[in-house]
Amino acid sequence: MRRLTLADTERLRATPGASALLFITDRCPVGCRHCSVSAEADGAGITDWELFTEIVAGIAAVPELQAVAISGGEPFAERRGLSHAVSVLREAGKDVVVFTSGYWAPARPDSWITRTLSQVSTVVLSTDRFHPVGAARAALAARAIIDAGCHLIVQLLGEPGREPRLPGPLAAVAGAGAEVNVITPLRHGRGAGVFHPTPRRRCAEFGRCPLTRSPTIRYDGTVLGCCGEAVIAGGGPAALRSFADERGQVAAALRSLRASPVLQVVGAHGPGALAALPPFAALRDTRHADICRACWAAHDTAEAAPEARRMAVALAATIPEGRHGR
Ligand code: SF4
Ligand code: SF4
Repeated sequence: MRRLTLADTERLRATPGASALLFITDRCPVGCRHCSVSAEADGAGITDWELFTEIVAGIAAVPELQAVAISGGEPFAERRGLSHAVSVLREAGKDVVVFTSGYWAPARPDSWITRTLSQVSTVVLSTDRFHPVGAARAALAARAIIDAGCHLIVQLLGEPGREPRLPGPLAAVAGAGAEVNVITPLRHGRGAGVFHPTPRRRCAEFGRCPLTRSPTIRYDGTVLGCCGEAVIAGGGPAALRSFADERGQVAAALRSLRASPVLQVVGAHGPGALAALPPFAALRDTRHADICRACWAAHDTAEAAPEARRMAVALAATIPEGRHGR
């Protein structure tokens, strides 16, 4: 089993078709004030076990998928689903990366947690001033993760005017072996009410969207063309979604989203390339709160106007293989 470093995960995410996200639950007992997917302690989770096992089997059967990240909500709050997904995906030869807050870590973790971690390549442990989990518990989680043989990536929040810093107890455990990844705050979900908005921008002012390379499969069978939090939480147009209710449909749903010309262009060039086309002209001077809103508006235009879709298809066809972000 490979221990995927941050560079490995970024390389896989940059390779079309090589990675996907399994969003395993909307539930999380931690309740951070900045949660970008608005996870709640009583949030929805897996209720249709048969559907979930079909979805996991479908992901395991996609040959080009090398790595599957599992997130939520808190994956460890979905004990049965997480244990099942990790063991099926591992058996299929996929590298598994799990995102967690570490809330589950007592001095000695339950045996199911140790067993699950032993099949996981890499754990991304998030900690910041909003996580009420606390540095001491995060340090216990880090210890359990390292002892299970996983590669550990500690994810910190980079906020303007605040130096991201590993809390003392965690720094002592993570030592030289862990990597640190600093991410920017997301103004999605509850985060929209916490972080300062960035100025609204025109389509041409946004870059390309790398998240088009990470399709997402939700525990309820919804398959999404990207891993944007706002989309995972239900936002955006229907064109960003497909559905799988048995294993054979997962690969087909991923393929159909990969073929979306709007997503291909947003992934390779950004929404500005679409706004430059005559049928999308109305988007040119509109200012959007973030790139997702610009992307959604481009999808709406392509959906409403056949000429817009035709030109998006023609533009997507000019993107060299491997560069289209899908
Ligand atoms: S940010 Fe993570 S730990 Fe915090 S509530 Fe959301 S899912 Fe839970
Ligand atoms: S810009 Fe579009 S493709 Fe990228 S994350 Fe947002 S909705 Fe998804």
